[in-house]
Amino acid sequence: MPVEIMVHEQSCRGCELCIDICPTKVFQLDEEKRICSVDHAEDCIACLSCAYICPSGAITHRDFHLVKNFYRDEEFCKKMGKFL
Ligand code: SF4
Ligand code: SF4
Repeated sequence: MPVEIMVHEQSCRGCELCIDICPTKVFQLDEEKRICSVDHAEDCIACLSCAYICPSGAITHRDFHLVKNFYRDEEFCKKMGKFL
């Protein structure tokens, strides 16, 4: 059964951090609403990076088996460097 991913629309600020950090490109930006939406839930590997990074706590998952958060994107880390 695929992971179920929920984005709380009222909480999402459209910052796109989840889009940038997701290793399997599950999310896309809904240009009209300026929020992210789940486009490829079936590709989710349940690393939970998106839920961890979301400043609004807008992302939750259901029916998943947690994997190790092994993924590290060099470009993304560079971007985050200015906040750390
Ligand atoms: S990280 Fe959170 S607030 Fe930012 S676009 Fe994704 S769901 Fe919305
Ligand atoms: S849990 Fe990981 S793979 Fe799944 S949507 Fe979030 S960042 Fe992408």
